[in-house]
Formats: sequence, C-alpha cells, structure tokens
Amino acid sequence: LEPAYSFMIRTRLPGGVATPAQWLALDAIARRYGNQTLRLTTRQAFQVHGIIKRDLKPTIAAINQSLVDTVAACGDVNRNVMTSANPVESRAHAAVYAAAVALSEHLLPHTRAYHEIWLDEQQIVGADESEPVYGPTYLPRKFKIGIAVPPSNDVDVFSQDLGFIAILDAHGDLLGYNLLAGGGMGSTHGDARTYPRLADVLGFIAPDQLVAAAEAVLTTQRDFGNRSDRKLSRLKYTIDKLGLDGFRAEVERRLGTALAPAHGFSFSHNGDRFGWTAGYDGRWHLTLRIESGRVQGAALDGLREIAASHGGDFRLTPNQNLIIANVADDQRSRIDELVAHYHLDGHLHATPLRRFALACVALPTCTLAMAEAERYLPAFLDQAEALLDTHGLRDAPILLRLSGCPNGCSRPYLGEIALVGKGPGRYNLHLGADFQGRRLNRLYRENLAEAEILAALDPLLARYAAERTDAEGFGDFLLRAGLLPAPAIIPTELVS
Ligand code: SF4
Repeated sequence: LEPAYSFMIRTRLPGGVATPAQWLALDAIARRYGNQTLRLTTRQAFQVHGIIKRDLKPTIAAINQSLVDTVAACGDVNRNVMTSANPVESRAHAAVYAAAVALSEHLLPHTRAYHEIWLDEQQIVGADESEPVYGPTYLPRKFKIGIAVPPSNDVDVFSQDLGFIAILDAHGDLLGYNLLAGGGMGSTHGDARTYPRLADVLGFIAPDQLVAAAEAVLTTQRDFGNRSDRKLSRLKYTIDKLGLDGFRAEVERRLGTALAPAHGFSFSHNGDRFGWTAGYDGRWHLTLRIESGRVQGAALDGLREIAASHGGDFRLTPNQNLIIANVADDQRSRIDELVAHYHLDGHLHATPLRRFALACVALPTCTLAMAEAERYLPAFLDQAEALLDTHGLRDAPILLRLSGCPNGCSRPYLGEIALVGKGPGRYNLHLGADFQGRRLNRLYRENLAEAEILAALDPLLARYAAERTDAEGFGDFLLRAGLLPAPAIIPTELVS
C-alpha cells in the first residue's frame, strides 16, 4: 500500500488552439481520470487535476491519442509557446500562430524518453541522446515564450523570458517582430536578490529569423545562465549579470547578424475582449469568461455539447478564458442558445473587475502555495465589488490578479491590484501596474488579511473616484497622484 498520490497533467498546446475533437477527448479524460474539471491556464494550456498515480500512464496515453501531448509542458526547457488569442485584428494572426507552432516544435527536446516511459515506445540503445538545441545539460531553468499581436498584449509579452511583438504594415501584413528578452514574474519572499522583471526590447527581426533568433537567445541562456542557484537561474538574471549590451552582442554573434532597430508599437490592453467579434474572413469568434480558467459542472457539460457540433475550433486565451472560434454566421444563434442554457454567459453580467481577474491554482493543488488564490477569488471579488460600489466604481476596468505565492503564475506583478500569498489568509498587496502590461506594480503593504486589504484600498479608491481623469486607469492614477513611487517603464521612444 502507498498513499493515494494525485497528480496534475498539463498539455503542450502552442497558441492555445484545440479542435472540437481534442476538446471532447480532454473532456472525457477529465471525467474518467481527473476530478471532472478542465483547467485553462494562463499559458493557454489545459491542466487535468486529480489523477491518481496508477492512472498517470493511461491518462498520458489518452491525451496523446487525441493528438495533444504533454512533452516539455514542465521542466527546464521551453514551455508552451503563447500567442495573442485574438483572431480578428489582421491576417497576421494566422502567420503568428504558425510561427508559434514552428517555435514549439523546433524547441522540443529530442529525447525519446517521454515516449519510452509513457507510450511504451521500444528503447533503442544509443539512438537517442543528442540534443541539438539543449545539449546534454538542458537549460538552467524553465523558459517561456510569448508572441503579441498589437494592439492586444494579452500574452503579457513583457513577462516572457523571450517575447516577440508582431509588427504589421498598414494592410495588416506581418513585417517582422520586435525581439524581447528577460521578462519573468517569479520572486521569493524575503530574498532581495530575486525580483519580477520586464523584458527588454533588443531589436527587430524579419519573420524568417524568428526560429534562429529564439535559438540564439535560448542557447545564450543555456550557456551563461546560473546553474548553482535555481532562484537566480532565469534568463532575467543572466541579462542583468551580462548587462543588456553584452547580452545583445552575444545573441547577435550567435544569430550571425546585428539586430535591426526596434519598430514602434502600441498596445491598447492586456486583457481579453468578451462576446462576439467578427473575423477578417467573415467568421465569428465568441470569447467566454471562465473564472480562474476552471471549466466544471454545467460549463463542462455545455462545452461538450458545443464541441460535439462545432465546425470551428477552440482557443484558450492567455487570461484563462475561452474563445469558441471560427463560427459560421448561421451557427451563431445555436451557439448563443447553448451558451445561455449552460450559463456560460457570465461575461455579459460580470463587472469589469470580475471579467479581467486572474487567479493561479494555489491550494489545494499546488504544493508551493502559501495562501488561497483560485478558491478565494470569488469571495474576494464579492468584497471588492461592494467596495467599488461605495465609490461608484462598479464599471471601472481595474485589473486584479491573485497569486498563492510569489512565483507569479497569474502574472500578479502586472496587476493594477495584486494579492500575492504570504501565509494562510494573508497577502502582500501590490498596486500600480497599467492596463497594457507595460509597467510592473509595486509592493504597497505586506502580510495583510482581507479586512486590512479592503481598508488599504478604500481611501485610494475614494480618491480615484473623485480625481481621475477620463479613462484614466487605477494604476496610472495612483502614480499621477503621487500615491506610489514611480516604477520603471518601457522606454517611451519605442511606443508609437
Ligand atoms: Fe502555485 Fe505559486 Fe504558481 Fe500559484 S503562483 S500556482 S501558488 S507556484
């Protein structure tokens, strides 16, 4: 006998695109092996929770049979490649999605160990072990890539180890990418050597340089990253150790050419757009709010029924939401009926605070959690909405992020209001990010219980209600009013 260990399995799903058949397969897997829920992550992947140990192998086999895999969804390798989930801005989205898939495939480990262990592939002695990108030592730490398509910064591109900002011409065609490196959210309470950091803009590359540029950045991290202290082993610390000019020079040396100057870019927001949007090709896309990305109960049933007849695809957004994508005009009313029937239309009724809020998994699933996040979000939202009501701010689009520990899976340091778990029922309160994902927030108060958090927010919201200018965000107001110290911001000369 041994304890009933249970596990979480996370898929690799570049760009978060899944077919209806894949949705149905993952739904069946969650019902058969998991805890009857699917979780949509902040990196556009699925997680299946509650798989007991003896079911791990059949679950992974079943996921692979659905033509989704879990290779490199964890470990010191490149993780799921994210892209802007918004399919309507331009034709460039298809090109960017293809680039994300190509990057994900190129940066997969070559070892067959996964297939031998989980899929019963026959082991061939000596046939395996060369890793052209990772080498024998892999990376010092996990490595995250995201591609943003302006004006949406839904991938929070400045939070990625390696980021790309698609640069489009006047017709919406892809000119190339601004190359970014050195973002990362994680930190450790009480360890001042660790910090969240926004990525730096290194320069501009053509579309056909994407894979080579990614490999140049990744291998620089492979060779220069800290391998003696995992707390300091992410790319952001490597860049700060080498200096930005030194890091860029090493990347250019590996790329074999100098980077062109970065192009101007502009982001309007880093959240999702809810409801129906029309694509450039006449198809329709419906973004649904999935609180904390947890699909369960009636929502799971409803999406199973939609998937059974849906002729388009599903797109997991970087903000834990779901797009029923590529819907023909004559199918919209049928989708609307099902969405209403299964109460999937929460986006229609929720306040902006609730619509944009993110929460990581935290307790009881994540062993690193110090405080609740996903399970606490609904209760905190109720309290926060009541507070907003007292100031007439119910419709204010304030970006809230909850995290059970400082590792930052819900990208909390880019929240206008963020709670970062410190201990049971206690959080550090961070304030002052913007709504475009371009500015980190700052630690405002430490180790607060709920009543203290609300008491700290109350006078700030009162001043915001009374003194804000038109369309001024809460984080921007706090800075303008001198209520927070000014944090670093991306150089404005790059923002057109
Ligand atoms: Fe776990 Fe911390 Fe990540 Fe939340 S932020 S899921 S608590 S590691």
